Amino acid sequence: MSGPSSVTTSPASALLPTFARLDIAFDRGEGAWLFDQSGNRYLDFGSGIAVNALGHAHPHLVAALQAQAAKLWHVSNLYQIPEGERLARRLVENSFADTVFFTNSGAEALECAIKMARKYHSANGHPEKFRIITFEGAFHGRTLATIAAGGQKKYLDGFGPKVDGFDQVAFADHDAIEKAITPETAAILIEPIQGEGGVRVVPPQCLKGLRELCDRHGLLLIFDEVQCGMGRTGHLFAHQQAGIAPDIMALAKGLGGGFPIGACLATLEAGKGMTAGSHGTTFGGNPLAMAVGNAVLDVVLAPGFLDHVRKMGLLFKQKLASLKDRHPRVIAEVRGEGLLMGLKAAQPNTEVTKALFQEHMLAVGAGDNVVRLLPPLIIDEKIVDDALHRLDAACSRIEADLGLSATGSAASS
Ligand SMILES: *Cc1c(COP(=O)(O)O)cnc(C)c1O
Repeated sequence: MSGPSSVTTSPASALLPTFARLDIAFDRGEGAWLFDQSGNRYLDFGSGIAVNALGHAHPHLVAALQAQAAKLWHVSNLYQIPEGERLARRLVENSFADTVFFTNSGAEALECAIKMARKYHSANGHPEKFRIITFEGAFHGRTLATIAAGGQKKYLDGFGPKVDGFDQVAFADHDAIEKAITPETAAILIEPIQGEGGVRVVPPQCLKGLRELCDRHGLLLIFDEVQCGMGRTGHLFAHQQAGIAPDIMALAKGLGGGFPIGACLATLEAGKGMTAGSHGTTFGGNPLAMAVGNAVLDVVLAPGFLDHVRKMGLLFKQKLASLKDRHPRVIAEVRGEGLLMGLKAAQPNTEVTKALFQEHMLAVGAGDNVVRLLPPLIIDEKIVDDALHRLDAACSRIEADLGLSATGSAASS
């Protein structure tokens, strides 16, 4: 009976090893806290990469999911889905958009946006206009088209010819953008705040400039708000601060509060090529997902919620600024808006996330040597203080390893 299955060493994971996972498994969550299998508590300032916008096990989301789970999960898009009609209506009423396509992920929302931009020009008699201008450091997902849009070598490498139709320019270089426009250009695609790229905020005047450029050249403006949207900046959508609107916008992450939901929003004009049969999805917009999405909106759109996010964002930013002053050898810069914050590290960012983990606080790395701090939007002042204590301790840990003392380095500056 003894065969290979009886070996006693722990079996290798059956999962495709595409992720470098930490050696910890969480068992349950509550608000901003995660608990491992031994009951140890971690302060979650990663929120599953900006997904758990309302923290873990939010009672309103749990109730909505449970009620819908007992009624109906999935019917396909062959039939009317009233919960989806309602969620789309609410997104439209609170944005620039007239119409919504639901997906299961951010990359799929971007795929819809890219296809829509191409189809728009094709429907206008200009099928040659299919190219999209994107930006260095961008991240739009991991499908073949979205890795081409992101243009990052490490994600493209080995996956065959890059999908054609994406022209990348330097981050926020207005002249380079105008030069990149050709008779084949269909759209400009940008994250109002680059998340994976290192919490790089596009200044409002640049977003305005892009809007003018698009209007002047007959291009569609596409915003990827998969990470920065849904209240994370203290505004429902990050671009609203700039006082302009895109033609198309991708959402996901926070929209489902942990349930996989994405959405592509558009004006009627931009969406006019997308007629019956032109695009589709089996799972997207199913009743279970839509019930959860509506529950997320119940909370995010409630009076005072976004004010609270802005208030916590300002408080957090001020405290991070003084943290940086206390630990200049660890933190070089504080960036971000609302509760999408980044610490540009003066040491390898992996050292910072590691030291934070030792202080039982979760954060997420990003490009440009940045540590992302993405707390759930429901945090209060007490949680902000708790986070600052852990950040302080983590910085001191790193300074001790470097042979520095926090007070010494602060006093010498
Ligand atoms: C996460 C992310 C995506 C991709 O979303 P997935 O759900 O992983 O496909 C796209 N754009 C931005 C800005 C993101 O942060």
